[in-house]
Amino acid sequence: MSGLNKQKIVESVPQKGFFGHPKGLFTLFFTEFWERFSYYGMRAILVFYMYYEVSEGGLGIDENLALSIMSIYGALVYMSGIIGGWMADRLFGTSKAVFYGGILIMLGHIALAVPGSVSMFFVSMVLIVLGTGLLKPNVSTVVGEMYSENDTRRDAAFSIFYMGINMGAFIAPLLVGSLMKYSFHLGFGLAAVGMFLGLVIFVATKKKNLGLAGTYVPNPLTGNEKKKFFIRVSIVVVVIAIILAVLIPAGMFTFNTFINLVGILGILIPTAYFFVMYRSPKTTPDERSRVIAYIPLFIAAVMFWAIQEQGATILANYADKRTQLEFAGITISPAWFQSLNPLFIILLAPVFAWLWVKLGDRQPSIPKKFSLGLFFAGLSFVVILLPSYIGGTDTLVSPLWLVLSYFIVVLGELCLSPVGLSATTKLAPQAFSAQTMSLWFLASAAAQAINAQLVKFYSPETEMMYFGAIGGLAMVLSLILFAISPKIQGLMKGIK
Ligand code: GLU
Ligand code: ASP
Repeated sequence: MSGLNKQKIVESVPQKGFFGHPKGLFTLFFTEFWERFSYYGMRAILVFYMYYEVSEGGLGIDENLALSIMSIYGALVYMSGIIGGWMADRLFGTSKAVFYGGILIMLGHIALAVPGSVSMFFVSMVLIVLGTGLLKPNVSTVVGEMYSENDTRRDAAFSIFYMGINMGAFIAPLLVGSLMKYSFHLGFGLAAVGMFLGLVIFVATKKKNLGLAGTYVPNPLTGNEKKKFFIRVSIVVVVIAIILAVLIPAGMFTFNTFINLVGILGILIPTAYFFVMYRSPKTTPDERSRVIAYIPLFIAAVMFWAIQEQGATILANYADKRTQLEFAGITISPAWFQSLNPLFIILLAPVFAWLWVKLGDRQPSIPKKFSLGLFFAGLSFVVILLPSYIGGTDTLVSPLWLVLSYFIVVLGELCLSPVGLSATTKLAPQAFSAQTMSLWFLASAAAQAINAQLVKFYSPETEMMYFGAIGGLAMVLSLILFAISPKIQGLMKGIK
Protein backbone atom coordinates (compact mmCIF):
# COMPACT_ATOMS: atom_id res chain seq x y z
CA MET A 1 0.00 0.00 0.00
CA SER A 2 1.49 3.36 -0.94
CA GLY A 3 2.24 6.01 1.68
CA LEU A 4 -0.41 8.30 0.23
CA ASN A 5 -3.18 5.75 0.51
CA LYS A 6 -2.15 4.81 4.03
CA GLN A 7 -2.33 8.43 5.04
CA LYS A 8 -5.75 8.90 3.41
CA ILE A 9 -7.13 5.88 5.24
CA VAL A 10 -5.88 7.09 8.62
CA GLU A 11 -7.38 10.54 8.00
CA SER A 12 -10.77 8.99 7.18
CA VAL A 13 -10.97 7.19 10.57
CA PRO A 14 -12.37 9.18 13.53
CA GLN A 15 -9.29 9.15 15.73
CA LYS A 16 -11.03 9.37 19.14
CA GLY A 17 -14.06 7.92 20.87
CA PHE A 18 -13.09 4.58 22.39
CA PHE A 19 -10.85 4.88 25.47
CA GLY A 20 -8.70 7.45 23.69
CA HIS A 21 -8.57 5.22 20.61
CA PRO A 22 -10.33 5.46 17.24
CA LYS A 23 -14.00 4.51 17.41
CA GLY A 24 -13.23 1.85 14.84
CA LEU A 25 -11.50 -0.09 17.58
CA PHE A 26 -14.93 -0.47 19.22
CA THR A 27 -16.28 -2.02 16.01
CA LEU A 28 -13.35 -4.39 15.58
CA PHE A 29 -13.18 -5.25 19.28
CA PHE A 30 -16.79 -6.43 19.37
CA THR A 31 -16.69 -8.12 15.98
CA GLU A 32 -13.72 -10.19 17.10
CA PHE A 33 -15.19 -10.65 20.59
CA TRP A 34 -18.27 -12.32 19.14
CA GLU A 35 -16.35 -14.26 16.51
CA ARG A 36 -14.10 -15.74 19.22
CA PHE A 37 -17.19 -16.28 21.40
CA SER A 38 -18.68 -18.44 18.67
CA TYR A 39 -15.39 -20.23 17.88
CA TYR A 40 -14.32 -21.07 21.42
CA GLY A 41 -17.91 -21.76 22.53
CA MET A 42 -18.26 -24.26 19.72
CA ARG A 43 -14.82 -25.83 20.41
CA ALA A 44 -15.60 -26.17 24.12
CA ILE A 45 -18.40 -28.65 23.40
CA LEU A 46 -17.48 -30.00 19.96
CA VAL A 47 -15.02 -32.58 21.24
CA PHE A 48 -17.68 -34.01 23.58
CA TYR A 49 -20.33 -33.86 20.85
CA MET A 50 -18.08 -36.00 18.66
CA TYR A 51 -17.27 -38.77 21.10
CA TYR A 52 -20.37 -38.92 23.32
CA GLU A 53 -22.62 -41.86 22.50
CA VAL A 54 -25.57 -41.30 20.20
CA SER A 55 -27.80 -42.06 23.22
CA GLU A 56 -26.20 -39.07 25.00
CA GLY A 57 -26.84 -36.78 22.04
CA GLY A 58 -23.36 -37.15 20.53
CA LEU A 59 -22.07 -38.60 17.26
CA GLY A 60 -20.43 -41.67 18.85
CA ILE A 61 -17.07 -41.20 17.07
CA ASP A 62 -14.04 -43.03 18.49
CA GLU A 63 -12.40 -40.92 21.19
CA ASN A 64 -8.90 -40.66 19.74
CA LEU A 65 -10.28 -39.99 16.28
CA ALA A 66 -12.39 -37.18 17.76
CA LEU A 67 -9.26 -35.67 19.33
CA SER A 68 -7.45 -35.89 15.97
CA ILE A 69 -10.38 -34.25 14.16
CA MET A 70 -10.35 -31.40 16.69
CA SER A 71 -6.66 -30.83 15.94
CA ILE A 72 -7.03 -31.06 12.17
CA TYR A 73 -9.94 -28.65 12.40
CA GLY A 74 -7.80 -26.18 14.36
CA ALA A 75 -4.95 -26.57 11.86
CA LEU A 76 -7.20 -25.89 8.87
CA VAL A 77 -8.83 -22.88 10.54
CA TYR A 78 -5.46 -21.15 10.85
CA MET A 79 -4.11 -22.40 7.51
CA SER A 80 -7.04 -20.96 5.62
CA GLY A 81 -5.86 -17.55 6.83
CA ILE A 82 -3.49 -17.63 3.84
CA ILE A 83 -6.45 -17.83 1.47
CA GLY A 84 -8.34 -15.19 3.46
CA GLY A 85 -5.38 -12.81 3.43
CA TRP A 86 -4.83 -13.35 -0.29
CA MET A 87 -8.48 -12.73 -1.13
CA ALA A 88 -8.47 -9.49 0.86
CA ASP A 89 -5.25 -8.35 -0.83
CA ARG A 90 -6.23 -9.17 -4.37
CA LEU A 91 -10.00 -9.46 -4.62
CA PHE A 92 -12.12 -7.45 -2.22
CA GLY A 93 -10.23 -5.81 0.67
CA THR A 94 -10.23 -6.67 4.37
CA SER A 95 -13.59 -5.21 5.36
CA LYS A 96 -15.58 -7.32 2.89
CA ALA A 97 -13.47 -10.33 3.85
CA VAL A 98 -14.53 -9.86 7.49
CA PHE A 99 -18.19 -9.60 6.45
CA TYR A 100 -18.20 -12.66 4.15
CA GLY A 101 -16.21 -14.57 6.75
CA GLY A 102 -18.73 -13.77 9.47
CA ILE A 103 -21.61 -14.98 7.28
CA LEU A 104 -19.87 -18.30 6.54
CA ILE A 105 -19.03 -18.80 10.23
CA MET A 106 -22.62 -18.12 11.27
CA LEU A 107 -23.92 -20.58 8.67
CA GLY A 108 -21.39 -23.12 9.96
CA HIS A 109 -22.71 -22.87 13.50
CA ILE A 110 -26.30 -23.02 12.24
CA ALA A 111 -25.42 -26.25 10.43
CA LEU A 112 -24.35 -27.71 13.80
CA ALA A 113 -27.39 -26.32 15.59
CA VAL A 114 -29.74 -28.33 13.41
CA PRO A 115 -29.79 -31.88 14.79
CA GLY A 116 -28.17 -33.81 11.99
CA SER A 117 -25.61 -36.32 11.01
CA VAL A 118 -21.87 -36.65 10.62
CA SER A 119 -22.16 -35.20 7.10
CA MET A 120 -23.76 -32.04 8.48
CA PHE A 121 -20.80 -31.79 10.85
CA PHE A 122 -18.36 -31.85 7.93
CA VAL A 123 -20.35 -29.24 6.01
CA SER A 124 -20.16 -27.01 9.07
CA MET A 125 -16.43 -27.61 9.37
CA VAL A 126 -15.82 -26.45 5.78
CA LEU A 127 -17.90 -23.30 6.36
CA ILE A 128 -16.15 -22.40 9.61
CA VAL A 129 -12.66 -23.11 8.25
CA LEU A 130 -13.20 -20.84 5.24
CA GLY A 131 -15.08 -18.23 7.25
CA THR A 132 -12.44 -17.96 9.95
CA GLY A 133 -9.71 -17.78 7.31
CA LEU A 134 -11.50 -14.78 5.85
CA LEU A 135 -12.33 -13.06 9.12
CA LYS A 136 -9.58 -13.71 11.67
CA PRO A 137 -6.38 -12.42 10.02
CA ASN A 138 -8.20 -9.60 8.25
CA VAL A 139 -9.95 -8.15 11.27
CA SER A 140 -6.54 -7.80 12.95
CA THR A 141 -5.12 -6.17 9.83
CA VAL A 142 -7.83 -3.50 9.96
CA VAL A 143 -6.80 -2.68 13.55
CA GLY A 144 -3.34 -1.79 12.25
CA GLU A 145 -4.74 0.25 9.33
CA MET A 146 -6.41 2.78 11.63
CA TYR A 147 -3.16 4.14 13.06
CA SER A 148 -0.44 6.08 11.33
CA GLU A 149 2.97 4.41 11.23
CA ASN A 150 4.38 6.36 14.17
CA ASP A 151 1.22 6.46 16.32
CA THR A 152 2.29 5.49 19.83
CA ARG A 153 -1.17 4.05 20.56
CA ARG A 154 -0.67 1.14 18.15
CA ASP A 155 0.69 -1.41 20.66
CA ALA A 156 -1.99 -0.47 23.19
CA ALA A 157 -4.61 -0.97 20.48
CA PHE A 158 -3.47 -4.53 19.92
CA SER A 159 -3.48 -5.17 23.68
CA ILE A 160 -7.08 -3.96 23.93
CA PHE A 161 -8.00 -6.08 20.92
CA TYR A 162 -6.28 -9.10 22.54
CA MET A 163 -8.46 -8.53 25.62
CA GLY A 164 -11.54 -8.65 23.39
CA ILE A 165 -10.41 -12.00 21.98
CA ASN A 166 -9.96 -13.44 25.44
CA MET A 167 -13.15 -11.97 26.89
CA GLY A 168 -15.12 -13.70 24.13
CA ALA A 169 -13.14 -16.89 24.72
CA PHE A 170 -13.82 -16.63 28.47
CA ILE A 171 -17.60 -16.27 28.59
CA ALA A 172 -18.39 -18.62 25.70
CA PRO A 173 -17.45 -21.96 27.33
CA LEU A 174 -19.38 -20.96 30.47
CA LEU A 175 -22.58 -20.17 28.56
CA VAL A 176 -22.34 -22.67 25.71
CA GLY A 177 -20.99 -25.30 28.11
CA SER A 178 -23.98 -24.85 30.40
CA LEU A 179 -26.36 -25.58 27.53
CA MET A 180 -24.51 -28.77 26.64
CA LYS A 181 -26.31 -30.80 29.31
CA TYR A 182 -29.68 -29.96 27.71
CA SER A 183 -28.61 -30.34 24.10
CA PHE A 184 -25.44 -29.88 22.12
CA HIS A 185 -27.45 -28.26 19.34
CA LEU A 186 -28.70 -25.58 21.67
CA GLY A 187 -25.05 -24.79 22.48
CA PHE A 188 -24.09 -24.56 18.80
CA GLY A 189 -27.18 -22.39 18.29
CA LEU A 190 -25.89 -19.94 20.87
CA ALA A 191 -22.54 -19.83 19.03
CA ALA A 192 -24.46 -18.92 15.85
CA VAL A 193 -26.32 -16.16 17.72
CA GLY A 194 -22.97 -14.81 18.93
CA MET A 195 -21.58 -14.56 15.41
CA PHE A 196 -24.84 -12.95 14.30
CA LEU A 197 -24.45 -10.24 16.98
CA GLY A 198 -20.87 -9.68 15.85
CA LEU A 199 -22.04 -9.19 12.26
CA VAL A 200 -24.77 -6.77 13.34
CA ILE A 201 -22.25 -4.63 15.23
CA PHE A 202 -19.83 -4.74 12.33
CA VAL A 203 -22.37 -3.78 9.66
CA ALA A 204 -24.14 -1.18 11.78
CA THR A 205 -21.04 0.72 12.88
CA LYS A 206 -18.42 0.20 10.20
CA LYS A 207 -19.38 3.09 7.93
CA LYS A 208 -19.27 5.61 10.73
CA ASN A 209 -16.31 4.19 12.64
CA LEU A 210 -13.95 2.66 10.12
CA GLY A 211 -13.93 5.26 7.36
CA LEU A 212 -11.85 3.91 4.48
CA ALA A 213 -10.04 1.35 6.64
CA GLY A 214 -10.50 -2.11 5.17
CA THR A 215 -11.87 -0.90 1.84
CA TYR A 216 -8.59 -0.64 -0.02
CA VAL A 217 -7.52 -3.55 -2.25
CA PRO A 218 -3.72 -3.27 -2.21
CA ASN A 219 -2.87 -5.39 -5.22
CA PRO A 220 -6.04 -6.10 -7.21
CA LEU A 221 -6.17 -8.74 -9.93
CA THR A 222 -6.79 -7.25 -13.36
CA GLY A 223 -9.88 -8.39 -15.30
CA ASN A 224 -7.77 -10.77 -17.32
CA GLU A 225 -5.94 -12.17 -14.29
CA LYS A 226 -9.27 -12.68 -12.55
CA LYS A 227 -10.60 -14.71 -15.46
CA LYS A 228 -7.43 -16.82 -15.54
CA PHE A 229 -7.61 -17.25 -11.79
CA PHE A 230 -11.19 -18.48 -11.73
CA ILE A 231 -10.55 -20.87 -14.59
CA ARG A 232 -7.52 -22.29 -12.78
CA VAL A 233 -9.35 -22.64 -9.46
CA SER A 234 -12.26 -24.38 -11.19
CA ILE A 235 -9.89 -26.82 -12.88
CA VAL A 236 -8.13 -27.60 -9.59
CA VAL A 237 -11.45 -28.12 -7.77
CA VAL A 238 -12.76 -30.42 -10.51
CA VAL A 239 -9.51 -32.44 -10.62
CA ILE A 240 -9.50 -32.86 -6.82
CA ALA A 241 -13.17 -33.86 -6.88
CA ILE A 242 -12.49 -36.48 -9.57
CA ILE A 243 -9.47 -37.87 -7.72
CA LEU A 244 -11.48 -38.12 -4.48
CA ALA A 245 -14.47 -39.64 -6.28
CA VAL A 246 -12.19 -42.43 -7.49
CA LEU A 247 -10.02 -42.87 -4.37
CA ILE A 248 -12.69 -42.74 -1.64
CA PRO A 249 -14.91 -45.59 -2.90
CA ALA A 250 -11.76 -47.62 -3.56
CA GLY A 251 -10.84 -47.16 0.11
CA MET A 252 -7.60 -45.40 -0.84
CA PHE A 253 -8.45 -42.07 0.73
CA THR A 254 -9.54 -42.55 4.32
CA PHE A 255 -9.87 -40.07 7.12
CA ASN A 256 -6.41 -41.09 8.25
CA THR A 257 -4.98 -40.23 4.83
CA PHE A 258 -6.57 -36.82 5.20
CA ILE A 259 -5.07 -36.31 8.67
CA ASN A 260 -1.64 -37.26 7.31
CA LEU A 261 -2.04 -34.95 4.35
CA VAL A 262 -2.88 -31.95 6.56
CA GLY A 263 0.05 -32.94 8.80
CA ILE A 264 2.43 -32.76 5.83
CA LEU A 265 0.93 -29.46 4.60
CA GLY A 266 1.21 -28.01 8.10
CA ILE A 267 4.99 -28.40 7.89
CA LEU A 268 5.47 -27.84 4.15
CA ILE A 269 3.63 -24.52 3.89
CA PRO A 270 5.70 -22.60 6.47
CA THR A 271 8.88 -24.22 5.11
CA ALA A 272 7.99 -22.98 1.63
CA TYR A 273 7.33 -19.51 3.06
CA PHE A 274 10.78 -19.38 4.66
CA PHE A 275 12.41 -20.63 1.51
CA VAL A 276 10.69 -18.07 -0.72
CA MET A 277 11.38 -15.19 1.71
CA TYR A 278 15.02 -16.17 1.98
CA ARG A 279 15.57 -16.59 -1.77
CA SER A 280 13.56 -13.58 -2.96
CA PRO A 281 15.62 -10.93 -4.80
CA LYS A 282 13.50 -8.34 -2.95
CA THR A 283 14.98 -9.50 0.38
CA THR A 284 18.02 -7.50 1.51
CA PRO A 285 21.05 -9.18 3.21
CA ASP A 286 20.00 -7.91 6.67
CA GLU A 287 16.48 -9.18 6.09
CA ARG A 288 17.90 -12.54 5.03
CA SER A 289 19.69 -12.80 8.36
CA ARG A 290 16.43 -11.96 10.15
CA VAL A 291 14.63 -14.75 8.29
CA ILE A 292 17.23 -17.18 9.68
CA ALA A 293 16.74 -15.71 13.17
CA TYR A 294 12.99 -16.21 12.87
CA ILE A 295 13.23 -19.96 12.17
CA PRO A 296 14.11 -21.12 15.74
CA LEU A 297 11.49 -18.72 17.14
CA PHE A 298 8.89 -20.18 14.80
CA ILE A 299 9.79 -23.73 15.86
CA ALA A 300 9.46 -22.72 19.53
CA ALA A 301 6.07 -21.18 18.76
CA VAL A 302 4.93 -24.40 17.07
CA MET A 303 5.90 -26.45 20.11
CA PHE A 304 4.27 -23.91 22.43
CA TRP A 305 0.94 -23.87 20.54
CA ALA A 306 1.02 -27.67 20.27
CA ILE A 307 0.80 -27.82 24.06
CA GLN A 308 -1.50 -24.81 24.50
CA GLU A 309 -4.00 -26.15 21.96
CA GLN A 310 -4.07 -29.56 23.65
CA GLY A 311 -5.81 -27.68 26.44
CA ALA A 312 -8.89 -27.87 24.20
CA THR A 313 -8.42 -31.52 23.21
CA ILE A 314 -6.40 -33.75 25.57
CA LEU A 315 -7.05 -31.68 28.71
CA ALA A 316 -10.73 -31.36 27.77
CA ASN A 317 -10.86 -35.13 27.61
CA TYR A 318 -8.95 -35.27 30.92
CA ALA A 319 -11.55 -32.93 32.46
CA ASP A 320 -14.33 -35.19 31.23
CA LYS A 321 -12.83 -38.56 32.11
CA ARG A 322 -10.24 -38.18 34.83
CA THR A 323 -11.47 -35.29 36.97
CA GLN A 324 -13.91 -35.06 39.90
CA LEU A 325 -16.68 -32.89 38.54
CA GLU A 326 -18.59 -32.72 41.81
CA PHE A 327 -16.61 -30.07 43.59
CA ALA A 328 -17.35 -27.69 46.47
CA GLY A 329 -21.04 -28.53 46.25
CA ILE A 330 -21.48 -27.82 42.53
CA THR A 331 -21.50 -29.96 39.42
CA ILE A 332 -18.88 -28.65 37.03
CA SER A 333 -19.35 -28.98 33.27
CA PRO A 334 -16.20 -30.33 31.65
CA ALA A 335 -16.56 -27.55 29.04
CA TRP A 336 -16.11 -24.85 31.69
CA PHE A 337 -12.40 -25.63 31.99
CA GLN A 338 -11.97 -23.96 28.59
CA SER A 339 -12.67 -20.63 30.29
CA LEU A 340 -9.60 -20.92 32.50
CA ASN A 341 -7.01 -20.04 29.87
CA PRO A 342 -8.68 -16.80 28.73
CA LEU A 343 -9.59 -15.93 32.33
CA PHE A 344 -5.95 -16.12 33.39
CA ILE A 345 -4.95 -14.17 30.27
CA ILE A 346 -7.35 -11.35 31.19
CA LEU A 347 -6.13 -11.28 34.79
CA LEU A 348 -2.43 -11.54 34.06
CA ALA A 349 -1.94 -9.59 30.81
CA PRO A 350 -1.88 -6.25 32.66
CA VAL A 351 0.60 -7.69 35.18
CA PHE A 352 2.95 -8.79 32.41
CA ALA A 353 2.59 -5.47 30.57
CA TRP A 354 3.52 -3.70 33.82
CA LEU A 355 6.42 -6.06 34.40
CA TRP A 356 7.96 -5.44 30.95
CA VAL A 357 7.65 -1.68 31.38
CA LYS A 358 9.18 -1.87 34.83
CA LEU A 359 12.08 -3.98 33.61
CA GLY A 360 12.63 -1.57 30.71
CA ASP A 361 15.94 -2.37 29.09
CA ARG A 362 16.51 -5.26 31.48
CA GLN A 363 13.53 -7.20 30.16
CA PRO A 364 14.32 -10.50 28.42
CA SER A 365 15.07 -10.32 24.68
CA ILE A 366 12.52 -11.69 22.19
CA PRO A 367 14.29 -15.10 21.90
CA LYS A 368 14.47 -15.34 25.70
CA LYS A 369 10.75 -14.56 26.01
CA PHE A 370 10.02 -17.34 23.50
CA SER A 371 12.21 -19.69 25.51
CA LEU A 372 10.36 -18.80 28.73
CA GLY A 373 7.03 -19.33 26.97
CA LEU A 374 8.06 -22.79 25.89
CA PHE A 375 9.44 -23.64 29.32
CA PHE A 376 6.12 -22.88 31.04
CA ALA A 377 4.21 -24.85 28.41
CA GLY A 378 6.41 -27.86 29.10
CA LEU A 379 6.01 -27.40 32.85
CA SER A 380 2.21 -27.32 32.52
CA PHE A 381 2.31 -30.83 31.02
CA VAL A 382 4.76 -32.14 33.63
CA VAL A 383 2.45 -30.81 36.37
CA ILE A 384 -0.57 -32.64 35.00
CA LEU A 385 1.22 -35.98 35.16
CA LEU A 386 1.73 -35.59 38.92
CA PRO A 387 -1.79 -36.57 40.08
CA SER A 388 -1.46 -39.94 38.32
CA TYR A 389 2.06 -40.34 39.63
CA ILE A 390 0.82 -39.76 43.18
CA GLY A 391 -2.57 -41.45 43.08
CA GLY A 392 -2.50 -43.77 40.03
CA THR A 393 -4.73 -43.57 36.97
CA ASP A 394 -7.77 -45.33 38.49
CA THR A 395 -8.99 -42.57 40.78
CA LEU A 396 -10.50 -39.26 39.76
CA VAL A 397 -8.30 -36.25 40.45
CA SER A 398 -9.07 -32.86 41.94
CA PRO A 399 -10.02 -30.22 39.33
CA LEU A 400 -7.44 -27.94 40.94
CA TRP A 401 -4.70 -29.84 39.11
CA LEU A 402 -6.18 -28.73 35.82
CA VAL A 403 -6.55 -25.17 37.11
CA LEU A 404 -2.85 -25.20 37.97
CA SER A 405 -1.86 -26.58 34.57
CA TYR A 406 -3.93 -23.98 32.67
CA PHE A 407 -2.46 -21.29 34.90
CA ILE A 408 1.12 -22.29 34.11
CA VAL A 409 0.55 -22.44 30.35
CA VAL A 410 -0.81 -18.88 30.50
CA LEU A 411 2.42 -17.67 32.13
CA GLY A 412 4.12 -18.94 28.99
CA GLU A 413 1.43 -17.64 26.64
CA LEU A 414 1.92 -14.12 27.94
CA CYS A 415 5.67 -14.35 27.27
CA LEU A 416 5.18 -15.60 23.72
CA SER A 417 1.82 -14.74 22.19
CA PRO A 418 1.65 -10.93 22.46
CA VAL A 419 5.24 -10.55 21.21
CA GLY A 420 4.84 -13.21 18.54
CA LEU A 421 2.94 -11.16 16.02
CA SER A 422 5.04 -8.04 16.45
CA ALA A 423 8.23 -10.13 16.24
CA THR A 424 6.88 -11.64 13.01
CA THR A 425 6.12 -8.19 11.61
CA LYS A 426 9.59 -6.95 12.48
CA LEU A 427 11.51 -9.99 11.25
CA ALA A 428 9.67 -10.67 7.99
CA PRO A 429 11.16 -8.90 4.95
CA GLN A 430 9.35 -5.71 3.84
CA ALA A 431 8.24 -7.28 0.58
CA PHE A 432 6.30 -9.91 2.53
CA SER A 433 4.77 -7.67 5.18
CA ALA A 434 1.21 -8.20 3.90
CA GLN A 435 1.43 -11.90 4.65
CA THR A 436 2.95 -11.71 8.11
CA MET A 437 -0.38 -12.06 9.91
CA SER A 438 -0.97 -15.35 8.10
CA LEU A 439 2.64 -16.40 8.68
CA TRP A 440 2.25 -16.09 12.45
CA PHE A 441 -0.99 -18.10 12.41
CA LEU A 442 0.86 -20.82 10.48
CA ALA A 443 2.69 -21.63 13.73
CA SER A 444 -0.67 -22.53 15.31
CA ALA A 445 -1.65 -24.41 12.16
CA ALA A 446 1.56 -26.48 12.13
CA ALA A 447 1.19 -27.12 15.86
CA GLN A 448 -2.28 -28.55 15.48
CA ALA A 449 -1.36 -30.52 12.37
CA ILE A 450 1.31 -32.21 14.52
CA ASN A 451 -1.18 -32.64 17.38
CA ALA A 452 -3.49 -34.62 15.09
CA GLN A 453 -0.75 -37.28 15.01
CA LEU A 454 0.30 -36.94 18.66
CA VAL A 455 -3.14 -37.30 20.23
CA LYS A 456 -3.46 -40.80 18.78
CA PHE A 457 -0.96 -41.92 21.44
CA TYR A 458 -2.99 -40.62 24.37
CA SER A 459 -4.93 -42.89 26.70
CA PRO A 460 -5.31 -42.96 30.49
CA GLU A 461 -2.84 -45.88 30.57
CA THR A 462 -0.17 -44.00 28.61
CA GLU A 463 -1.01 -40.67 30.21
CA MET A 464 2.14 -40.23 32.33
CA MET A 465 4.43 -41.18 29.46
CA TYR A 466 2.49 -38.86 27.14
CA PHE A 467 2.58 -35.74 29.31
CA GLY A 468 6.14 -36.47 30.48
CA ALA A 469 7.59 -36.95 26.99
CA ILE A 470 5.94 -33.91 25.42
CA GLY A 471 6.43 -31.65 28.45
CA GLY A 472 10.04 -32.81 28.87
CA LEU A 473 10.84 -32.24 25.19
CA ALA A 474 9.42 -28.71 25.36
CA MET A 475 11.53 -27.93 28.41
CA VAL A 476 14.71 -29.27 26.81
CA LEU A 477 14.03 -27.26 23.63
CA SER A 478 13.41 -24.16 25.72
CA LEU A 479 16.80 -24.55 27.41
CA ILE A 480 18.53 -24.95 24.04
CA LEU A 481 16.74 -21.84 22.78
CA PHE A 482 17.81 -19.95 25.88
CA ALA A 483 21.44 -20.97 25.32
CA ILE A 484 21.48 -19.84 21.68
CA SER A 485 19.37 -16.71 22.22
CA PRO A 486 22.35 -14.27 22.11
CA LYS A 487 23.26 -15.76 18.73
CA ILE A 488 19.67 -15.36 17.48
CA GLN A 489 19.61 -11.80 18.78
CA GLY A 490 22.77 -11.11 16.76
CA LEU A 491 21.13 -12.46 13.59
CA MET A 492 18.17 -10.16 14.18
CA LYS A 493 20.33 -7.20 13.09
CA GLY A 494 19.24 -4.54 15.52
CA ILE A 495 15.59 -5.65 15.93
CA LYS A 496 14.52 -5.69 19.59
N1 GLU B 1 -5.92 -17.58 21.25
C1 GLU B 1 -5.52 -16.55 20.36
C2 GLU B 1 -6.64 -16.23 19.42
O1 GLU B 1 -7.58 -16.93 19.33
C3 GLU B 1 -4.23 -16.92 19.67
C4 GLU B 1 -4.33 -17.47 18.28
C5 GLU B 1 -3.08 -18.21 17.83
O2 GLU B 1 -2.09 -17.59 17.39
O3 GLU B 1 -3.13 -19.45 17.91
O4 GLU B 1 -6.61 -15.22 18.78
N1 ASP C 1 -5.73 -17.52 24.95
C1 ASP C 1 -6.36 -17.86 23.70
C2 ASP C 1 -6.15 -16.69 22.68
O1 ASP C 1 -5.37 -15.73 23.05
C3 ASP C 1 -7.81 -18.15 23.88
C4 ASP C 1 -8.09 -19.59 24.35
O2 ASP C 1 -7.24 -20.47 24.16
O3 ASP C 1 -9.20 -19.84 24.84
O4 ASP C 1 -7.06 -15.95 22.51
